[in-house]
Amino acid sequence: MDDKISKMADMLRAGASMLSITCPKCNTPLFKYKGEIYCVNCDRRVKIVKEEETQKIEEEKPQPMNLPELESTVLDKIKNLNNILREESNPDNLDRVIKQLILLLDLLERIRRIGKI
Ligand SMILES: [Zn+2]
Repeated sequence: MDDKISKMADMLRAGASMLSITCPKCNTPLFKYKGEIYCVNCDRRVKIVKEEETQKIEEEKPQPMNLPELESTVLDKIKNLNNILREESNPDNLDRVIKQLILLLDLLERIRRIGKI
């Protein structure tokens, strides 16, 4: 008989319960005995990594660009330029503000188009 299997049988006879999780090192089913988790193959206690840690790793993945956020930034800029436009009387400055507004409105249109896909 396989030494590993006979050890597992010993654990069961001693009242240990076989868990659905396996040893991260050797993939042998783990046993719970007197509140501790053991791997009979490695002959050692195994610490179970809490699920919180995997969730943490997932959160660190880069998020896709947030279009609604970009849209509200552009809208803020447009609002600011609108205020400048209202106060501005120098034709050169007006020209610049209007050009920027056109660019921002174009950007806003693009954001809204992408958002619909
Ligand atoms: Zn093991």
